[in-house]
Amino acid sequence: MGDVGNEIQDILDRVDSIDVLDVLLIALIIYGAFLLLRGTPAIALLRGGGVILVVIVLLARSFNLEVLDSLIRNSLTGLIIAVPIIFQPEIRRALERIGRTGLRGWAHAGFSDLLDTIASTAMDLAVQRHGALIVFERETGLQAYVESGIGIDAEPSRELLGGIFFPNSPLHDGAVIMRENRLVAAGCTLPLSETRLSGEMGLRHRAGLGVTEGTDAVSLMVSEETGMVAVAADGRLYSRLDETRLRGLLERLLNGASSNREAAERS
Ligand code: ATP
Ligand code: MG
Repeated sequence: MGDVGNEIQDILDRVDSIDVLDVLLIALIIYGAFLLLRGTPAIALLRGGGVILVVIVLLARSFNLEVLDSLIRNSLTGLIIAVPIIFQPEIRRALERIGRTGLRGWAHAGFSDLLDTIASTAMDLAVQRHGALIVFERETGLQAYVESGIGIDAEPSRELLGGIFFPNSPLHDGAVIMRENRLVAAGCTLPLSETRLSGEMGLRHRAGLGVTEGTDAVSLMVSEETGMVAVAADGRLYSRLDETRLRGLLERLLNGASSNREAAERS
């Protein structure tokens, strides 16, 4: 342990203000990366890996385990290269999110009416305990999922959605997909998320979350078991929503940065 003490003393002697800036910048970059990954499954993996690495390094240092120490030293480059490979989907999504600001959102004419219809219909379905799953397409095309279901192409309305998700209707199984202001398909099959979910959430929530992990889609789930309304985006789940929060959340998630445009149009 004396060695470690000396080493720390040594390092402290050599620190100057440039080094402090250096460390601060790195801390900022790591903090930024954490913010981007917050709430995604990647963060748990990263935390686990970090803890294991720290424990091994401490062990190697304090007991002078030279082979272990050199093994870590030599594999560090490999580990750093492995991170972007393992987290490729998360990193891609994070970069897309940064680059997407200013791109087209859902702020088309009738967007506000559409949100009203969707939010109030979702609450109705929840009260009646009719399960529902609605996916909103954004930049990433969902054509493959559209084709897994029954093509519709209709103006969404309370009656249409109520009919589709009526228990045992031919179309109630699977997801409805919205493109711009049209309902383009129902009965669609989505990829299931592997994330651990709370016990009351089953395949519907897993599918709704899953589609947002590989794409920038936003999905809305109404639970037939609990009547709870949830929204998923970017691999994150927002649950137990009331109508106000649901509407606000959908507006924010679907509008993206183009809310400025809509605000400009309004004034
Ligand atoms: P609920 O709270 O409504 O019961 P849940 O999350 O517990 O929802 P399940 O009870 O497993 O989910 O719901 C099953 C329904 O989920 C199916 O009837 C089907 O409509 C839908 N579903 C299951 N798998 C998929 C999939 N891969 N893609 C789209 N929808 C799916
Ligand atoms: Mg269930």
